[in-house]
Amino acid sequence: MLSFLASVLENKMENKRFTKNDNGFICENCGFIVEPLGYSSRNHCPKCLCSKHVDIMPGDRQNSCGGVMDAIKVELDSKKGYVILHKCRKCGEIKRNKASTEAKNQPDDIKKIIKLTAGSL
Ligand SMILES: [Zn+2]
Ligand SMILES: [Zn+2]
Repeated sequence: MLSFLASVLENKMENKRFTKNDNGFICENCGFIVEPLGYSSRNHCPKCLCSKHVDIMPGDRQNSCGGVMDAIKVELDSKKGYVILHKCRKCGEIKRNKASTEAKNQPDDIKKIIKLTAGSL
């Protein structure tokens, strides 16, 4: 029983380390080289706003789908700021991701964000 608990704990710690992962990636939609954000894990391209379906919980990289996710809509949240709705081309799942318009390095394309916000009701 104790060893079971220990392994659960270990798993939790491992997941935590995973959540903090902040690697750069190459956008599968437009080929833009996305640099790490520096303070949290970036999950979408600042240029075309596309994401990749790799997370179950934000940042965990535990989803095996791997489909490209298009930004279909942007909502303005009073607390979080701009929230991008991503839809997976492969499985159709919709996810919400906070936009990174405030990032010092490669901020999200604000013109695209505003356009997607205007398109929503
Ligand atoms: Zn892109
Ligand atoms: Zn998917």
